[in-house]
Amino acid sequence: MRLIDLTHPIVPFDQNPWAQFPAAPKNMVGLTGAFEGVGWYSRAWYLGEHCGTHVDASIHFNPDGQPVDEIPLEDLCGPAVMLDFSHKPAGADVTVAELQAALGRVGGSLGDARIVLVRSDRSKLWGRPEYQHDMLNVPPESTEWLIRQGARVLGTDGCVWEVDRGTRPENLGRRMTGAERFPSHALMRKHHFLILENVANLHAVPVPRFTFVGLPLKLVGGSGSPIRAAAILPD
Ligand SMILES: [Zn+2]
Repeated sequence: MRLIDLTHPIVPFDQNPWAQFPAAPKNMVGLTGAFEGVGWYSRAWYLGEHCGTHVDASIHFNPDGQPVDEIPLEDLCGPAVMLDFSHKPAGADVTVAELQAALGRVGGSLGDARIVLVRSDRSKLWGRPEYQHDMLNVPPESTEWLIRQGARVLGTDGCVWEVDRGTRPENLGRRMTGAERFPSHALMRKHHFLILENVANLHAVPVPRFTFVGLPLKLVGGSGSPIRAAAILPD
C-alpha cells in the first residue's frame, strides 16, 4: 500500500497569512519547553478549528448538527471519487451538468464511494495571496445533487467549498447571515454531510478512485477540526 499526503502544513500565521478563509483566527505557536531550560523541547498552539486541511462538522451550519467529536471514524475513511475541474477559471460555478459529465468520465455513478473530492488544483496557490480568492464555487443545487447521488463527504482542494456570496460586488456593505453567504454549507440544516476544505495535492493522485482517510481531532463540541488526509493506493 502507498499513501499520498493530502495535507497542507500548519504554520504560524505570519509564515502563511493566506492559508485560510480571511476571517479565520490566526494560528500562533509559542515555546513551552526548551533544551537550554527544562531540558526538553515542546510548544503550545492556538489554532482555529478550520485551519489547514480540515473537516467541517454539520454543527458548523446547523445548531442541531453533529459536532466533530461525534463523527464516526468510518465516515472519513473509505472509497472516494475525485472529479477534475482543474481547467475551470477562478470563481466559476461547478454546475450539475458538469458534475454529471465528470462522473460519467469515471464510471457514471459514485458506486460505493461516499466521499467526493472536487479537484481544482488551487492547492498549488497555497502560500500566495490569490489562494484566499481564487477558488471554484459549488452552488447549492450542485451540492444537493451530489448528496442525492449518495455523497456524504464533499471535499475541495480550494480554500472554501463555495465562494463567499458576501464578497460579490452587489453584496458589498450588506449585512448577510451565514446561510446567505454560504448557502451550500447551510444545506447542513437539511441534509447530514461533511465538507473538507484546503485538501492538498489532489493533482498528485494518479487515479480518480481511491481510498481516502482524513481523521479529525476529538475536539468535544467542535465545529470542525484539522485532519491528516491521505490517499491510500495499492502498490
Ligand atoms: Zn471549514
